[in-house]
Amino acid sequence: MERAIVGFHRDEMGDWVAELDCHHDQHVRNKPPFIVRPWVESAAGRNEHLASKLQCVRCDRLELPEHLAPYKKTPEFTEETIPKGLLSQHATKKGVWGRISVTAGKLNYCVEIPERRTIEIDKGQHSNIVPEMIHFVEPVGKVRFSIEFYSNQDSAE
Ligand SMILES: [Zn+2]
Repeated sequence: MERAIVGFHRDEMGDWVAELDCHHDQHVRNKPPFIVRPWVESAAGRNEHLASKLQCVRCDRLELPEHLAPYKKTPEFTEETIPKGLLSQHATKKGVWGRISVTAGKLNYCVEIPERRTIEIDKGQHSNIVPEMIHFVEPVGKVRFSIEFYSNQDSAE
């Protein structure tokens, strides 16, 4: 999934890291002759690349960024109380992650990455909802699950 660059910092080795709007970090090294990215060495060059997009494979792998904190949790839903909105295509807003945890039964979690993939979440398992990624759920018989939302402290409500 393509993500916009919202900032930069250096890692402990001094290499440049782009901060993406999904809260993942991605190295944007300048290591000629292997990786040639001279613009990253100057503040002006970095500024010009703010809002430009990078492919984020960690979003495609549904990896929850480790530094986020949960800020909201839904009640537990069953196959009978699932809000209709969860059953049809929808997405969380920019920067908002979710974690679906199934406590009984089984839930199909369908994501468009952009091709559709169906993930079976079994009792005791979880999967992650990626910001702005279209998805929906389908109960497989009886099920109990809840969703917890994650963001960084600054953008949490
Ligand atoms: Zn990402």
